[in-house]
Formats: sequence, C-alpha cells, structure tokens
Amino acid sequence: MTDLTDSKKEADCIFCKIIAGDIPSAKIHEDEEVFVFADINPVNLGHSLIIPKKHYTDISDTPDETLGKLIVTAKKIAEAIKKAVKADGINIEMNNGKAAGQIIFHSHIHVIPRFIDDGYRHWKGPEKTAEEIRGVAEKIRIEISNREL
Ligand code: 5GP
Ligand code: ZN
Repeated sequence: MTDLTDSKKEADCIFCKIIAGDIPSAKIHEDEEVFVFADINPVNLGHSLIIPKKHYTDISDTPDETLGKLIVTAKKIAEAIKKAVKADGINIEMNNGKAAGQIIFHSHIHVIPRFIDDGYRHWKGPEKTAEEIRGVAEKIRIEISNREL
C-alpha cells in the first residue's frame, strides 16, 4: 500500500504508523502523497485529518508543493463531509506548535463539520488597542520585507 522508506517516516510517529497500516484507522481517502482519515476524537462526527504521507513536523518544514496538495485535498474532502453529514459550515485548521494545541507532530490539517446550533465558539482574547494592532502589523511587514513571500 505504502512504500515509505525509513528516511521518510519517524519511528515513533502515530500518524506514520497509521499510514503504514500498523495502527488501524477509519480511512477516507489515499493517493500518492496524502492520506485522509477520521479523527479518533472528533469535535463533530465527520471530523477528518489530511496528512502528507511523508513525515513533516508542521507547516514550517512542509514543502510548499505538499502544502498545496494538502489544502486542495482538504477543500475536496470538506465538500464530501458537508454532504455526508449535512453540515452548515466547515472549519479548516492547522495547529502548529505545542502552544497552538498541536499534540501530534506530523503535519496535518483538520477538516471539521460545523452546525449552526453545535454550541462551539471561537476563542476570543482580551481587547487590544488600535495602536497595538497597528504596531504589530508594522513588525510583521518588516519581517516580510526581510524575506521572499
Ligand atoms: P493536533 O492537536 O495535533 O492538531 O491534533 C491531533 C489530532 O489527532 C487530535 O484531534 C486527535 O484526536 C487525533 N488523534 C490522535 N491520535 C490519533 C489516533 O491514533 N488515531 C486517529 N484517528 N486520530 C488520532
Ligand atoms: Zn509521521
């Protein structure tokens, strides 16, 4: 099914083991580059994970071409999930780093069906001043000017 060499997978990575079939999963889709399966602890039923077959840690070390493939796959899977569970909306998200809630360090995109009355709310931080917001926007612009976008 998969022909990942040791150089492309991490020995202790749960998602690499799922791709290899060493850990069972509710598989949804698979092609040369990506693997899609149901999250074991879904926010709502239909919650799926899109992962590259090669092991990367997070968005930073995932090649642009692979990220492109992941997001386009997420779009297609989102449409399928929406129809399958009659969702009202879809969250597509990626946690990068422990502080952002990442617990599995194999790059992945969550596709989560949402319902008008499911009760989940986006997090909201304390209010920021316009000066703070503009100040950080300027810092980010400086960072961007120091590298190629
Ligand atoms: P993260 O917080 O790293 O963005 O999300 C990791 C996701 O992987 C979580 O939503 C969690 O429920 C899911 N997960 C963790 N272990 C397994 C597993 O063994 N099988 C499946 N199908 N999902 C898993
Ligand atoms: Zn892995």
